Amino acid sequence: MSFMEYAAAPESTSILNIRPHYGLFINNEWVEGRGESFTSISPSTEAELFTVSEADGRDVDRAVTAARAAYDKVWSRMSGAERGKYLFRIARILQERAREFAVAETVDNGKPIKETRDVDVPLAAAWFFYYAGWADKLDHAGLGANPRSLGVAAQIIPWNFPLLMLAWKVAPALAAGNTVVLKPAETTPLTALMFAEVCQQAGLPAGVVNILPGKGSITGRALVEHAGVNKIAFTGSTSVGREIARSVAGSDTKLTLELGGKGANIVFDDAALDQAVEGIIQGIFFNQGHVCCAGSRLLVQENVHDEVLERLTRRLATLRLGDPLDKNTDIGAINSREQLETIHRIANTGEAEGAERWTLDCAIPDKGFWYAPTIFTNVAASNTIARDEIFGPVLSVLTFRTPAEAVTKANNSPYGLSAGIWTEKASRMLTVADQLRAGVIWANTFNKFDPASPFGGYKESGYGREGGRHGLAAYLAKGEGR
Ligand code: NAP
Ligand code: MG
Repeated sequence: MSFMEYAAAPESTSILNIRPHYGLFINNEWVEGRGESFTSISPSTEAELFTVSEADGRDVDRAVTAARAAYDKVWSRMSGAERGKYLFRIARILQERAREFAVAETVDNGKPIKETRDVDVPLAAAWFFYYAGWADKLDHAGLGANPRSLGVAAQIIPWNFPLLMLAWKVAPALAAGNTVVLKPAETTPLTALMFAEVCQQAGLPAGVVNILPGKGSITGRALVEHAGVNKIAFTGSTSVGREIARSVAGSDTKLTLELGGKGANIVFDDAALDQAVEGIIQGIFFNQGHVCCAGSRLLVQENVHDEVLERLTRRLATLRLGDPLDKNTDIGAINSREQLETIHRIANTGEAEGAERWTLDCAIPDKGFWYAPTIFTNVAASNTIARDEIFGPVLSVLTFRTPAEAVTKANNSPYGLSAGIWTEKASRMLTVADQLRAGVIWANTFNKFDPASPFGGYKESGYGREGGRHGLAAYLAKGEGR
């Protein structure tokens, strides 16, 4: 064995400066919430990381009032160029603290450091850079001259990409001239609380960004029901999304919903198969499958089914599951015990309904929440595992014979968020893409994100778009015209 075979040392948590307790961030100050404090744990070790205070209805009211005052007195009066400078500053600070943020996200969420370091944190910074550039160009957003901001935006985000989902929501809202009250997910508040520090470092005026940790049923509900909120942006489950839509019905609160998915990854027999295999893995095992736009349904042309499965399982055998701080780890921990139970429950219907299960043979750590990569073949379109979102590292494989059958099967879903197409034929790529009812379609790739590309769904995957100039429209009212 040569010394070159030693891998890089695992990332160290010693660079983290986690406080033992976090309060709420309101009006640029840390205050205690009136709800009950809760503890955030690391899903890979079950170690307790810190305690957080929870915002109740009165705290929500305080934060919305602060956001309103900041909007009226400062933020809505500032020039776009000046707002842009704050966003650039935030982006730069995220870059400077990138390593610390990557370790924090990995510890709090359980996802591999490889991903937080190369995807979550750099993309979060990219989102701020991108929207910083828009702040003084809103006349070009396609809404007429002088589009107006909306006021106070309530933003509720999930646990799967905590910092990145924050960036997707906060950056366009601020660029467009709104102020923000954001609730991170209960199991992953750390990077949102660290982001509050970034806002202080950037000198952001008080009240422009407020961060309220807490449970959905308490903090989240109080926030969406608050009469002072002008815009709600929600990313999460379809059931909660529906509840929020009902609660704002009849009011003039603007709403965007980014909900679940059951993305089809379609592999034709003429595809570059090794490349397709990488894309299948990226599609469903990236972030342990905790991805709304995951390619959780593999539709493979019948004549290459066995070949693709053979190459896929061979490649999967090289992946490593374990300590997410280890730079060689490909598959990290499941975010919570509750999510692990959901994955077990849905995946267990697979065999019961007649599908065949393949599970990666790998060691599972003693502590923490883990699920080995799993593939179901012989899946019928009517099976639960072909219809319900599992939100875990579980792939359901279906077959098709013709492009028309591939399209019909791909569209046979209550969701319509994402799809992937693998073919070397450009004409087939275009005709199939044109017939798919999915908001995002990847061509010979999967799970690639760019701040300039709009992202969002059809059907039960929600409505509204995030990213690009379309993402600004969600935070602006039409302008007066010339
Ligand atoms: P979730 O339960 O809907 O939670 C999402 C957020 O909403 C959390 O912050 C949650 O708080 C809060 N919440 C829960 N109930 C609420 C209520 N009644 N009123 C207001 N807020 C409430 O979803 P999840 O299980 O955390 O996330 C997984 C789901 O999100 C999946 O279905 C996935 O597809 C979807 N998702 C979609 C996208 C997208 O862009 N389309 C992206 C990521 C995830 P707690 O933390 O206390 O639960
Ligand atoms: Mg946690």
